[in-house]
Amino acid sequence: HPDSDSLTALVRAAAGRFGAKPCLIAAERTVSFEGFAGEIASLSRHLAASGIRPGDRVALLDVDSIDFFEILYAIAALGAIAVPLNYRQRVPELRYQIQNSGARLLLAGSRYEAEAEALKLDLALGWQRLDMFCNEARAKHPCSLADLRGVEGSAPFVICYTSGTTGRPKGAVLDQRAACLRAYKFIIEFGIRRDDIVHVTTPLFHISALVITMTCLVRGAGVLILPQFKLETTMAAVREHRVTFLSLVPTMLAMMAAAPEFGAAYFGDVRLIVYAGAPMNPRLLRDVMSVYRGEMVQSFGQTEDLPQSILSIEDHREAFLQGAKHLDSIGRPPIGVELKICDAQGREVPQGEIGEIASRGGTGMVGYWEMPEETAKTIKEGWLFSGDLGYRDADGYIYLAGRKKQMIIRGGENVYPAEVEKVLLDFPGIKDAVVIGLPDPVWGEIIAAVIVARDGPVDPAALVAHCKRHLASYRCPDCVFQRDSLPYNAGGKVDRNQLRQEYEGRER
Ligand code: ATP
Repeated sequence: HPDSDSLTALVRAAAGRFGAKPCLIAAERTVSFEGFAGEIASLSRHLAASGIRPGDRVALLDVDSIDFFEILYAIAALGAIAVPLNYRQRVPELRYQIQNSGARLLLAGSRYEAEAEALKLDLALGWQRLDMFCNEARAKHPCSLADLRGVEGSAPFVICYTSGTTGRPKGAVLDQRAACLRAYKFIIEFGIRRDDIVHVTTPLFHISALVITMTCLVRGAGVLILPQFKLETTMAAVREHRVTFLSLVPTMLAMMAAAPEFGAAYFGDVRLIVYAGAPMNPRLLRDVMSVYRGEMVQSFGQTEDLPQSILSIEDHREAFLQGAKHLDSIGRPPIGVELKICDAQGREVPQGEIGEIASRGGTGMVGYWEMPEETAKTIKEGWLFSGDLGYRDADGYIYLAGRKKQMIIRGGENVYPAEVEKVLLDFPGIKDAVVIGLPDPVWGEIIAAVIVARDGPVDPAALVAHCKRHLASYRCPDCVFQRDSLPYNAGGKVDRNQLRQEYEGRER
């Protein structure tokens, strides 16, 4: 096969090895590995019959479903490029991504018909209902494994728009070979088995969900697909379908730990929890680890390249047995990944010093779609510069200091939010905390702590005094705002822009 390093090759091999075993499991139906291969072939023919050619972009707008999962692989089989859109966005944001990617066709779910109608003039081939398109494909082009054709692994597979927490969303282009390699690296760390049932709580429009579910195809595990994360229904399905491997973002774990029924039986048969996407509160992690007896892994990475760093199963085990060593780090680079921490000139900084994290290892994006200048700023001499700041300790573990663009410059001194946030979260009675810079006529920027109290308001003076015991005074919050919750996006990240806008000019 000329497509031996492609996603299609992966699907073909899985169908051959695991045949009738359930691959995709959802409330509506279950699809075997062999059935999955046949359905991809049908969808891919239907896409071609609808006028989609290799290299064309097809935008997708829906919650997760078997159809959504299959269409991604069908687009790849054809050598076209999927543009999975974040369904929480509004029409102007969606329009920007449709126009930037030059998508020809939009396949949208029934709940997004109004958005699709508003966007149809931007699409050469208009839009179609995803479920209807897939049903028609299966009826018109009944196919089996033998009909499955693919393209070379160097073909771009997906354009994933970053969530834009640091500016305009950028379309990271990933090819099929790099997507497969990401999955293989995860398999080494996760140890996925044939008898596993995997559920990824983050939506499939996120590259991490796409890649983590891909690991199941390699190992023959089943994937439980649920439309959207809702604490009670998701956890009920996790127990009902005997999920053994759960992937989530830290906010979800915080919600779970706060559930009234949280206890040893809460996670049912789950034996492995992977958390990623945003900083984890070490206290929450310790609380969960004292109740949940399975394994844990932390993955660190970004749309542009992942995994860049892993806090392994063994690291968690050791931390549990011997105290919290390294538990507040993002771990170390996994096999096949090189990481360096650099100064502004791209030179490696000495151990313990803060710099920008850069990675290399064959899993990086090809570049940003139609943004050559941004690409040139991000990929230099084969290294992908992440925009994340951190330092390495003597054992090689990496600690995050925050994103470059989130760094606060107060009176000429650099303040890294993550370091202040860690100290805030250590204060009794604090449930959640984030640090932002606000414009100030004297200091340029000042440090604002936005906190959520566990039970009843926190005394701001006592909190600042606590910070002064642990941090140089220029890094301590100049003001403290209290609120009921922090605004999180679908990737589990705090929307710092929203907070900045809200608190700018507010009385301190
Ligand atoms: P944009 O790049 O447009 O601002 P974004 O940051 O939301 O969008 P993503 O690719 O969704 O882009 O998120 C990647 C970022 O998430 C990383 O660069 C890092 O800052 C953060 N992140 C990912 N995993 C972890 C983790 N385990 N711990 C802490 N932060 C993490």
